[in-house]
Amino acid sequence: MSLLLRGGYVVTQNARREVLRGDVLVEDGRVAAVGQVRDSAERVIDCTNMAVLPGLINTHHHVANTLLRGAADDVPLEAMLETAFAIDARLTRRDVQMGALLGCIEMLKSGTTSFHDLFYWEDEVARGVREAGIRGFLSWVVLDEAFTTQRGSPLKNAEQFARKMKGDELVTPSVGVQGVYVASEETWAGARALADALDAGLHAHLAETRSEVYNHRKKTSLRPVEWLEKIGFLCDRLVAAHCVWVTLNEVRALGRHGVKVAHCPTSNMKLASGGVAPLPEMFEAGVTVSLGTDSPISNNGMDLFQEMKAAALLHKSTRWDASVLPAQRALDLATIDGARALRAGDRLGSIEPGKLADLAVLDLHRAHATPFNRNNLIRHLVYTCRGSDVRYALVGGRVVVDDGSVTTVDESSVVDRVQEIASELYGVNG
Ligand SMILES: [Zn+2]
Repeated sequence: MSLLLRGGYVVTQNARREVLRGDVLVEDGRVAAVGQVRDSAERVIDCTNMAVLPGLINTHHHVANTLLRGAADDVPLEAMLETAFAIDARLTRRDVQMGALLGCIEMLKSGTTSFHDLFYWEDEVARGVREAGIRGFLSWVVLDEAFTTQRGSPLKNAEQFARKMKGDELVTPSVGVQGVYVASEETWAGARALADALDAGLHAHLAETRSEVYNHRKKTSLRPVEWLEKIGFLCDRLVAAHCVWVTLNEVRALGRHGVKVAHCPTSNMKLASGGVAPLPEMFEAGVTVSLGTDSPISNNGMDLFQEMKAAALLHKSTRWDASVLPAQRALDLATIDGARALRAGDRLGSIEPGKLADLAVLDLHRAHATPFNRNNLIRHLVYTCRGSDVRYALVGGRVVVDDGSVTTVDESSVVDRVQEIASELYGVNG
């Protein structure tokens, strides 16, 4: 199957960050040509007044928690987790699958084509991923058996899931750890050994709140990042979500070990985490930083356009510096750096021949996006555009959002089903 995206503004995100007025030819699921393409294709989409972007990449998510959207607003992390765990304990496998499917629809419709998830029952999330046709980097979460509601050993469950999914076209399995507050040294070591054995990624919450850091220091006399370095966990497989409460020495440790950070500004602000992840210092230390929305219970959406803007504004505001985290850098976090974080920089994150055709096409001909100046397109994308401007999304060359509608599933029936599940679970009134 070949497809030609004709006459758009192509935001390549290649090494030179070129923006071209031209075409993108897609063949056999990959980008075949970029620029002025003479060939035609089986399908041609007119992209006049549209921007063609690499599909956005969300590197920290708990997608099935769409079921809990709005269940714990205006409370800090600890109270939010209490509510989440109480509802979680009543979830069925089918609920998780439907919640995940809803989230996948929401992501595709707002231009996200890859996400990095942390959850139990990732096999159910994987079903949602396949049905929606999105790309999922799914981390089965492990924690001490004393704290889990999972049946059997979380580590064994994670291993089984990873082995089952190895080689899947859309699902890349990895190993997750919930955080230092529920995982002993043995659990962290087990997760690391498993990821090494499977050549898989690692995904964990890290230094999210001040109480996490203080409690851990009380217990071990070390801060979480220092402690993970001491036990030999830090490595370039790891995507660490948050890293809000870290010292400069810890930032340098992250850089030294090649740890990637998933920055989640909206979640941190909503849960009143207080601190701000020190992105300028992370860049200085060579840390790859990417962008995550975190759970729909703490965001409450998963629109990476909003998240790019939130990230840029948060750092400008707290550093008293309007040039810190400029638009181009914000877009990098959500595209090429996200791909690097997931060890997929060779196939995702930019529009270049040979890469997978994971693309988002945005309509610029909208009231809220006018006037549009092609010379400041990147700033326009970050500060003005919205996920709802997405008209087309492609994953591996397959058109999964076509003229604004998801093609793979019946959105309306998924919405109805999730509304029913939420009202059965905790009495949501629709
Ligand atoms: Zn999280």
